[in-house]
Amino acid sequence: MADYLISGGTGYVPEDGLTAQQLFSCGDGLTYNDFLILPGFIDFTADEVDLTSALTRKITLKTPLISSPMDTVTEADMAIAMAKYEQGFITDPVVLSPNDRVRDVFEAKARHGFCGIPITDNGKMGGKLVGIISSRDIDFLKESEHDLPLGEIMTKREDLVVAPAGVMLKEANEILQRSKKGKLPIVNEDDELVAIIARTDLKKNRDYPLASKDSKKQLLCGAAIGTHEDDKYRLDLLVQAGVDAVVLDSSQGNSIFQINMIKYIKEKYPNLQVIGGNVVTAAQAKNLIDAGVDALRVGMGSGSICITQEVLACGRPQATAVYKVSEYARRFGVPVIADGGIQTVGHIAKALALGASTVMMGSLLAATTEAPGEYFFSDGIRLKKYRGMGSLDAMDKNLGSQNRYFSETDKIKVAQGVSGAVQDKGSIHKFIPYLIAGIQHSCQDIGAKSLTQVRAMMYSGELKFEKRTTSAQVEGGVHGLHSYEKRLF
Ligand code: IMP
Repeated sequence: MADYLISGGTGYVPEDGLTAQQLFSCGDGLTYNDFLILPGFIDFTADEVDLTSALTRKITLKTPLISSPMDTVTEADMAIAMAKYEQGFITDPVVLSPNDRVRDVFEAKARHGFCGIPITDNGKMGGKLVGIISSRDIDFLKESEHDLPLGEIMTKREDLVVAPAGVMLKEANEILQRSKKGKLPIVNEDDELVAIIARTDLKKNRDYPLASKDSKKQLLCGAAIGTHEDDKYRLDLLVQAGVDAVVLDSSQGNSIFQINMIKYIKEKYPNLQVIGGNVVTAAQAKNLIDAGVDALRVGMGSGSICITQEVLACGRPQATAVYKVSEYARRFGVPVIADGGIQTVGHIAKALALGASTVMMGSLLAATTEAPGEYFFSDGIRLKKYRGMGSLDAMDKNLGSQNRYFSETDKIKVAQGVSGAVQDKGSIHKFIPYLIAGIQHSCQDIGAKSLTQVRAMMYSGELKFEKRTTSAQVEGGVHGLHSYEKRLF
């Protein structure tokens, strides 16, 4: 990129910004809000950005997003909804409106090299599905007809085969196969477009059957276990149920208990992927990598419900933790999950730009329709409960999470989390597409067509960062308005 600018004719461009190495060598622990990424050069559209990322040594996801193993975040509904987004649903396709023209379709086809564009009333994802334009609708039109509105020539809604939101990928693929069409739109109960699947991807799935699926072509699923003797029984049951990865759930993972458990699992189930953690330093990571982990979960004290740093004095600001551990673990091919402290889609982009391969979220996914628990109202606001697994509240429920924060021999419990509530976010089927599109736009601003490229640019020093002073953070937020409404998607 830099070469392009320098050879552009105006001469030398001075070095600007800090490399990641420079940013994190200052000795201060940084959080996601303490820095920004400097923009690069764009010569592609956001929907071209490939978000494929490694979850573990052997498991690759199409979307770098995972939900936390917490009783108020992930049960079956959440796991199923999340897994679908890892595997083949296109949630940010090109969409046009009935008032767009035939020439817009040709333009999209020239840019993206495909045809079969869903048409919604507002020309966007989330709009009501009103039709589809495929090559067959436009191939034989004369030049003079290129100004026709798509509403006149599209295949109309009543003639389309669609699938309902929440459909399993396998079922959707079967419907697509039967329909003999190129694209299958997925719509919610209000007939709004939430995703599509494409026949070309279906073919790819056939050609690469292991992509983002386990060997039985089931949705991928991970589960958390502890490091005690009875966890070995839970492990056996999980393996029998077809689990793809286990997470050793500990707030300080660098322990003899975890090392022994990793070795035990790797010997008994060599193909099962084991995620170790949590760690925040390279020294902690080393022990778990030596023991044989397939991925590391990074974060200590950065979670929204977490009081570990305050109570136990241990932890690390999350941006520094993610950079330091990723930079070490990559030498051994061990991917990093940035866990905790994600408040916005910008934080996700930053975690990935600092070397994490995936991001784990609790509060951001709590209070979605698919999160466990019932909604309730407080002061007219619709909420769901969200609590730390180390809160006394969760401990009292004896959720098995006890092992994460207390040992059975502890006589007095020291809480490491709080219990609270989060505002309703609607369905994952709307929220995750927003996160995906947000990450793609961020990569586009950076000038990287894939997450792999973002990381390569970061490690080569091409990607530049800048620290944010407190006043820069104020400037970067909404300011100076009497009042405003913040709607994100
Ligand atoms: P969030 O996304 O910022 O809400 O953070 C979620 C993460 O916080 C989880 O994935 C856990 O790593 C961590 N966590 C969960 N419960 C507790 C707790 O009680 N204390 C400290 N950290 C917790």
